[in-house]
Amino acid sequence: MRTEEISTPKRTKEIIARHGFSFKKSLGQNFLIDQNILHNIVAAAHLTPDKGALEIGPGIGALTEKLAQTAGKVTAVEIDRRLIPILEEVLSPYPNVSVEQGDVLKVDLKDLFARHFEGVSGVSVVANLPYYVTTPILMKLLEEKLPLENIVVMIQKEVAQRMAASPGSKDYGSLSIAVQYYCEPQLVCTVPHTVFIPQPNVESAVIRLKVRDKPAVEVEDEDHFFEIMQASFVQRRKTIANNLKSRYFPKEGRERLEELLQQAEIDPSRRGETLSMEEYAVLSRVFLQAGIR
Ligand code: SAM
Repeated sequence: MRTEEISTPKRTKEIIARHGFSFKKSLGQNFLIDQNILHNIVAAAHLTPDKGALEIGPGIGALTEKLAQTAGKVTAVEIDRRLIPILEEVLSPYPNVSVEQGDVLKVDLKDLFARHFEGVSGVSVVANLPYYVTTPILMKLLEEKLPLENIVVMIQKEVAQRMAASPGSKDYGSLSIAVQYYCEPQLVCTVPHTVFIPQPNVESAVIRLKVRDKPAVEVEDEDHFFEIMQASFVQRRKTIANNLKSRYFPKEGRERLEELLQQAEIDPSRRGETLSMEEYAVLSRVFLQAGIR
């Protein structure tokens, strides 16, 4: 007989009660109790038995179980020590799953990949992320340039919209550019509060980030590119010229800055939110050529 899925509300409550587990809001613990959502998340990652999946924050293993039934190898990193014995118990039918206790922001992911994903044809990150650390986790995954195919994550809806936003829209900002530099984002679905226990007090969405083979634009110096882009958004309502002046030419007149913007073919009266990623790449190149860092 097939055992009941971990994620049904009844079984989730039973596991939690039997282990005397109490939710910690500070760790973003909102567990999924809906089969359809779990199915949609896993489907968006395009996993097959020759692929690996890295899950961040498995909770009591609801998503982990679905991943174990779809991918060849699954590794889950969970910060909360109290969940480890629960995970060992509920995931015992799945020999292709390993669980590590730790803070994903501190874990050596290259080492983890070498230990767990040898021989798989590709790895995706699939997770219902703890919302309080969504951006640091995603930026760590992307900046370390791990060999990832997809990142499919449940996150706060507002953050998902910012990641997928296009130039000129109100949601477009440095997060959109940072994510889109490495990935092609696609909103998979928005999610009602009722699929979690306890229910979060923000709206949620699932986003798929298809990791690009190479970044979307060619830049000479990534740190400089990200810095100039971030400086352009420091005060959203200011023009690009005003923002860049505060950061790069605080004590000088505007002539030099306007000359550089002209070289980059960017009107100084535009706002940072209207520039495309390509325009930021050109701007960074022009500044670097002029020795402005
Ligand atoms: N995957 C489970 C589910 O969908 O039901 C739980 C998701 S819950 C939103 C987030 C999980 O991430 C919790 O289990 C929490 O303890 C864990 N977590 C929070 N911060 C973490 C961190 N820095 N590193 C690893 N896990 C973390």
